[in-house]
Amino acid sequence: MKDLQQYYMEGLLSRIDALSSALKVLKDNPRDTEESTRRIAHSLRGSGATYGYPKITEISGRLEDCKTKDMPEILDELIRYLRNLVAEEMQEKQNILLIEDNPEDALITQTTLDDHLFKIHLAETGSQGEEILKENEIGLIILDLILPDTDGRNFIMKLKENTYTAHIPIIVLSAKRHPQIKTECFALGADEFFEKPVDPDLLSAAVSSKLQKAKQLFREYRIDSLTGLLNRASFNESFQRLKALSFREKSPLSLAFVDLDHFKSINDTYGHQVGDEVLKHVADMITNSLRKSDVIARWGGEEFVMLLYNSDSRDTKIALEKMLQSLADTPFITDNGVIIQCSFSGGISTVEGDDSVDTVVSKADSLLYFAKDAGRNRIAIDADLAGEMRKTILLAEDDDLTADFVLHRLRKEGFEVHHFVNGEEALEAFQKIPVSLAILDVKMPGMDGFEVLKRLREIPKFKSMPIMMLTSMGVEKDIVRGLELGADDYMLKPFSPTELLARVRKLLR
Ligand code: GH3
Ligand code: MG
Ligand code: MG
Ligand code: MG
Repeated sequence: MKDLQQYYMEGLLSRIDALSSALKVLKDNPRDTEESTRRIAHSLRGSGATYGYPKITEISGRLEDCKTKDMPEILDELIRYLRNLVAEEMQEKQNILLIEDNPEDALITQTTLDDHLFKIHLAETGSQGEEILKENEIGLIILDLILPDTDGRNFIMKLKENTYTAHIPIIVLSAKRHPQIKTECFALGADEFFEKPVDPDLLSAAVSSKLQKAKQLFREYRIDSLTGLLNRASFNESFQRLKALSFREKSPLSLAFVDLDHFKSINDTYGHQVGDEVLKHVADMITNSLRKSDVIARWGGEEFVMLLYNSDSRDTKIALEKMLQSLADTPFITDNGVIIQCSFSGGISTVEGDDSVDTVVSKADSLLYFAKDAGRNRIAIDADLAGEMRKTILLAEDDDLTADFVLHRLRKEGFEVHHFVNGEEALEAFQKIPVSLAILDVKMPGMDGFEVLKRLREIPKFKSMPIMMLTSMGVEKDIVRGLELGADDYMLKPFSPTELLARVRKLLR
């Protein structure tokens, strides 16, 4: 069954491609696309459950029978599900390093091991083996003892001395019949020893059991139990591996360091347990939007660190901004239906040839603090340090004249200002654009400024955003009400440009 599933997974890849292009053109060319989409859905519906994936059958069934207008949404759901499934299942395919200089022996071992389950990297010398180890996550090593450039026993010793390779199980295949050699190999840290010719069944069984154990150990020592992400220790290892690979391929590698915004108030408002679930939600979301070649780990607390392969800092910034957008679009929802919006800030640094993890992380970390300072919910790269990050101000004001005046003055000072003429639209905009400061008119049609203020303060991430109220001369009681609801400052209309700028600058400090 396992082989069949693997085969099915490989078949799914081309289906995912077809469905993804269908999704792209569905709007412009619904007729043809719709039909072919239903055809693919029909075939998946039939095969999914057979291969052990009832959920594929379920979603495809809905897709095949759906109304035209519902098609994009269900199609999107199916593609996402298939992508995750394939990524998960294919990851199960573990890397084995086979070091063997005799081509016939190598072929025998390769055919013994099922290549649907393992990816076998062949090295003919010890130094080739070392290169492969630097660039791949190897789960098991099968080692011939007599190699052109080294004695297998020396090679074992070297592996055990290196912290990145010391944990990898080793199976020795040897033509030497001397019992002392066997004892020696075990003493050096080999896990199994077989004499050639090797019984294929014994070898298969040993490989499976070693890999399984290695996987268990991996889970225990290297996975963060809350989020299921790599922990900090194993991140170091991925860092070395991706750095070596990027260096060889001459492709850029970026490290992004992110920290959730105002996470303490999420805990304070909803409790630590919900906080944990929000952390998981964010971790899942980020993981799903990364590519398979990228790496993400939990650095600690509410901090995550990522490596984006073949991506410079600008591309990485774009990728992370997309994550922030999808996080805003899909907030965490508790079992009781409470919607919890949250965001993160991030700093990005590119990895150069001889950088250590600590060097790159500390560079990214200082950019992260720059992003926090600039108002959170944003990503900073080196280039942002040059010009001060433009601060964004949201203005909710229904009166044309006042709005024009404020917009004109603030834009002239270099601020980015978004203007909305009613409370509902302003409130919606807060979820979509990162805002450093809000200016809210008290009197607006529909939802007034007080209501917007009140609702914002109920959302953890807006608890400490500076908010200024605009009130009219003669209704001083509004000032008190605003301050009680959590406003930081107020201005009485009409006000002068000097007063406006002075107050805005003070609040942003
Ligand atoms: P900022 O935007 O400046 O980062 O604000 P913040 O509140 O996120 O920053 P701070 O570092 O003061 O608080 C981090 C909080 O994250 C405090 C800690 O209780 C919480 N936290 C850390 N790890 C966990 C965890 O595993 N689960 C939960 N629920 N909370 C955690
Ligand atoms: Mg040999
Ligand atoms: Mg923190
Ligand atoms: Mg934080």
